[in-house]
This record gives sequence, structure tokens and C-alpha cells, in this order.
Amino acid sequence: MINDIKKMLRITDKHLEIRGVSYETIQKQNTLVLHAILSPCPDVCKNCGAMKEDQNGEQVIVKNGKKEITVRFDQYNYMPTIMKLAKQRYTCKNCLTHWTAQSYFVRPRHSIATHVTVKSIALLKEKVSLSFIAKMANVSITTVIRTLKELGKYLPHSKNTTLPKVLMVDEFRSHVSTEDKMSFICADGESGKLVDILPSRKLKRLTTYFKQFSTTENVEFLVTDMNAAYFQLLKHVFPNAQLIIDRFHIVKHLNQAFQEFRVREIKNLKQQNKTEAYKKIKANWRFFTKNRLNINHSNYKTWRSFRSPKYPYLTEAMMIDRLLNYSEPLKQTYAVFHDLVDAFRGKDPELFLSLLRELPESLEEEFRKKLQNLLKYEEGLRNAMIYPYSNGKIEAKNTHIKTLKRVSYGFNSFENMKIRIFLMNHLIEIK
Ligand SMILES: [Zn+2]
Repeated sequence: MINDIKKMLRITDKHLEIRGVSYETIQKQNTLVLHAILSPCPDVCKNCGAMKEDQNGEQVIVKNGKKEITVRFDQYNYMPTIMKLAKQRYTCKNCLTHWTAQSYFVRPRHSIATHVTVKSIALLKEKVSLSFIAKMANVSITTVIRTLKELGKYLPHSKNTTLPKVLMVDEFRSHVSTEDKMSFICADGESGKLVDILPSRKLKRLTTYFKQFSTTENVEFLVTDMNAAYFQLLKHVFPNAQLIIDRFHIVKHLNQAFQEFRVREIKNLKQQNKTEAYKKIKANWRFFTKNRLNINHSNYKTWRSFRSPKYPYLTEAMMIDRLLNYSEPLKQTYAVFHDLVDAFRGKDPELFLSLLRELPESLEEEFRKKLQNLLKYEEGLRNAMIYPYSNGKIEAKNTHIKTLKRVSYGFNSFENMKIRIFLMNHLIEIK
């Protein structure tokens, strides 16, 4: 019967004896109380190595009273559960040391069963708040944070980490780093596996950090957005790496240039009192960003800005042409934007780069400048079209981090955040 209770509690210590179970009101809560004794009868003194009996059969290790402690367990059928545990104390008559019996399920000087810690750790891997974990494991938030901090010792060391062939680098807003408002994240571009997060993305810090690795030659590609600081990393720490600009950032840059042009052009048309052009272009802007391959050339219909019978039935392509005819700058920008996007989608680096190099002189100045900025990253652009690597996988990680930040009501320590991110990514092996 007593052994059955131990089975239900999942305690395997054969020296633990459960004497009984009772209900008691503790802190106004009906509580399940287990009464137990831990008395393992040691054979030798751990301090001096003396046997428990000498040659004459005299006891050398003698029992010396019991120390009663309270151990908190996980709830049992929704009922708070504690163990009133009497731990045997011993004295060695040979060296006069004293000690108290210990068991694996509660650490020395602790009052929370290992089962509860295991549960907290399991919950720390989920995107849930610390207060939720505390509630579920029936412990205080301070205890949860202590458990989290203790896992810090299992964080992988950069010395033992092999850098991947494709290294994705990015940044995220962590709110907890005092060094820099943006934190740094890097991951394996092929497997998506997280490599590390750092409290700062500053070049000096990154250079020092990466120089610790003995495997910097492994890195063949560095995938990044258009942050110039990361390009410097290539020169300083990755002698064999080529740059790849993340393709989503390239497309974003093109789209942004076109959207910014839109704002200026619509404003211009308004100022010039070209009311009809202004209204129609503004109302139909979404047609200008549509992939040209998907524009319909055969289906005639009436359009909101070109209603029949005032206007004839038009295909989508004809309607877009009419809109473009309202503004010469728009017509030209539209063509350049789509030629670039198509060349990029078609993974044609030579075409893409020659389009960029030979932008028409008549093109709107600001739009042209924004596009020409891209030429600074020639190698990175070319590689983005040649190789299949992007930062998609790291962006997904950043989304996870955002969720974690939201549910945990902000971390107040970068280290704690890092441990949780590593836990979530299954990168902490707990021994
Ligand atoms: Zn001793």
C-alpha cells in the first residue's frame, strides 16, 4: 500500500517510507499532506570513509535525531500536495561530522520537489507567461525565474558550436538589452537552427564574438538585410564567405521605392489640379502593383473609374493603359519597377543589374536614387538570384520571439530571454 502511494507520486527512492496521508488546512487551502521518513542507513562516512561499525561491532555512524522539512509537490487531482518529510540525521563518531539524509526528489536545502521543477521547465519551453507557469506549477514567480536562471549553465558554448555553411543574420527589438536597442540573432540558413542571440548588433561586439569561434572558415554565405554593418563582418571575420542580400528585403526595397513615388506623384497631380487623373490613379493604385503576367487581356468589362456607357468596355490591360496615360512619370516608373521585379523573379542577375545601371535619365529623381542605392550591394544582389538562401527561416524565429515577448509581459533580463529562446528551440540539453 505504501509502495503504491510512492508509485502514484513517482518516487523511486527505496529509503523513503510513507507513513500516512491526511488532509490539512494550510494557508486556508485544503491540502493533501503526506507523512514520510527518509532513513537510508549509510554504510560509510562520506567525510572520513569510516565503516558504519568498527572491528568490535561498535556503531561508528550513529543516528542523531531527525530534521523535518516540508516539500511542495505538484497538485494531486487539483489539490495542493505537500510532504512532511523527516530526514534522518547522522553523526560519524570517528570524525565527528554531521549530515542529513538526502534524496534525489528534493535537493538539499530546497523545499520544492524535483517533479515541480521538471514541470516548470517543460512549461518554460512553451510560449506562455511566467505568471501562468507559476500558477500551473503552484510556485511563486520568483521560483520560476530561479529555475530559468539555473538553466543558464546549460546554454551551449560558442567554443563548441560549429558555424554553419550558410549563416543568416538579423536583428530584433528586445527591450531588455541595455547595450543596444536592437539585439542580434543568427541561425543556420539551411536547417533554420538557431546559432545564437546577442544583446547588441554593433560591429565591434559582433567581431569580438565571432572571433571566438574556430570555425569561421566554415561560413560560405552570409545572408543579411541591407545593413552595412553586417557586410563589414565579411571582411573582418568570415574570410571565405560571400554576401547574399535577403531576397525579401530586395523586393521590399523595390516596392517601397514604388510606393514612395506614388505618394509624391499623387500629391503632384493634386497640386497641378489634374483632378481626374488624381482621383482615378489614387482609386486604382492596386492595379499598378499587380504582377504583369497576371493582368487580363481578354475579358471586356466596365470599370469603376471607366463606367459604360461613357466609356467602352475595356480589358484590365486596357484599363491600366488608360490610367498610365494620365501621367508620364507614372508610366515610366511603372515600366522600370516591373522590369526590375520581373528580372528579379526570373532570377536573371545580369538583366537585373544592367537595368539598375542603365536607369533612364528622365526617370523621377528620387525614385531613381532609391533604386541606384541597390548597386552598392551588387555581389549580394547577384547571389540572391543565384543561390536559394534567404532569411525566411530567421524571420519566422523573430516572430516566435515576438510572441514570447508578448506573453511573458516583457523580459527584464536579456539572459533570461536568451535561455527561454534556446529552450523553445530545443537547444538546451538538461542533464
Ligand atoms: Zn567520519
